[in-house]
Amino acid sequence: MQPRSKLTITIDKDVLMDAKKAAKEKRVALSQVVENFLQFFADPQLYCFKCGEKLGSEGAELCAKCGWLVCPHCGACRCELDEETAVAVFHMRRVYEDLLTGRVK
Ligand SMILES: [Zn+2]
Ligand SMILES: [Zn+2]
Repeated sequence: MQPRSKLTITIDKDVLMDAKKAAKEKRVALSQVVENFLQFFADPQLYCFKCGEKLGSEGAELCAKCGWLVCPHCGACRCELDEETAVAVFHMRRVYEDLLTGRVK
């Protein structure tokens, strides 16, 4: 196990109360939730919409034509999708981007 560090943060009281409640219901430690999120925040992991393999946003190439990450496993990007599917994928990604308070890439 990695050495543990203490983190002191100041956040909205209600947010913390709700988070503690949710963590209790899910039976996870709040520290674990924060740690997972920070890990994701520092190095967001996505799943390829086509082959389902995990792809880190670090190191993945962007397609010059569509501007999306190109899957290093199967080479898929937006260019392979029809308009309707591309829009659906785009909106799903917004969940990440809201969470990360910024674009995934
Ligand atoms: Zn893929
Ligand atoms: Zn493309």
